[in-house]
Amino acid sequence: MFRSLIILAAVVVIFMIVKNRLSRRQQQPAKVRAAKTDDMTKCLQCETYIPKKEAIISGSDAFCCPQHLRDWEQSHKNNR
Ligand SMILES: [Zn+2]
Repeated sequence: MFRSLIILAAVVVIFMIVKNRLSRRQQQPAKVRAAKTDDMTKCLQCETYIPKKEAIISGSDAFCCPQHLRDWEQSHKNNR
C-alpha cells in the first residue's frame, strides 16, 4: 500500500514537470510574430503605410504604387 502511494506521487511529479515544459514551448512563437511588424514604410504621396516588399522605391523615397511615384515627381518638377 505505502509503495503504491510513492509510485503515484512520483508519476504526478513527472507529469507536472512535462506539462510545465510543454506550456513554456507553446508561449515562444508570440515573440516571432511581433518582430515582423518592423518592415513597414510610408508612401510620400498619400502617407499610407505599406510593407517594404510591396513599395515602389525611387532612390531614398518609397511609394505605394507607380501612379503616386509619377505624381510625386511631377509635383517636384512644377515646384522648380
Ligand atoms: Zn500612395
